[in-house]
Amino acid sequence: MINKDCIFCKIGSGQVTGDLLYKDQKAFVIKDIQPRAPIHLLIIPLQHFQLFKDLKPSTEDLIGHLFSIANKMAIEFNLVDGGFRLIVNQGEDAGQTVPHLHLHLLGGNLLSPLN
Ligand code: 5GP
Ligand code: ZN
Repeated sequence: MINKDCIFCKIGSGQVTGDLLYKDQKAFVIKDIQPRAPIHLLIIPLQHFQLFKDLKPSTEDLIGHLFSIANKMAIEFNLVDGGFRLIVNQGEDAGQTVPHLHLHLLGGNLLSPLN
């Protein structure tokens, strides 16, 4: 399902133009508009879910698919040797600003320690 008020649903469905680095039947990848590292990509499912808890058993394999795309992108952007980080913000305490589940892929320089 798509949420008509959601920016990631709009980009994924082509309603808003975005520079798609990758797209398949389940997910797509864009550059973060406000990059926090030299490479900062967002791996986003086409279906609208806010949180992990909203995933149904039938869509659980989506999570593996998102990680598999992250792996492909890390290779494509030459991040494997230097290293990279994957982040999923969930809810208010984590500072989730877009309520559509997504993976951040960050790399390209030394990243700050996690807190
Ligand atoms: P969150 O804070 O929800 O984990 O991450 C949302 C991310 O989406 C933020 O890093 C923000 O910069 C990025 N973002 C928000 N709106 C847009 C947009 O319209 N286009 C792109 N490319 N990134 C966006
Ligand atoms: Zn959405």
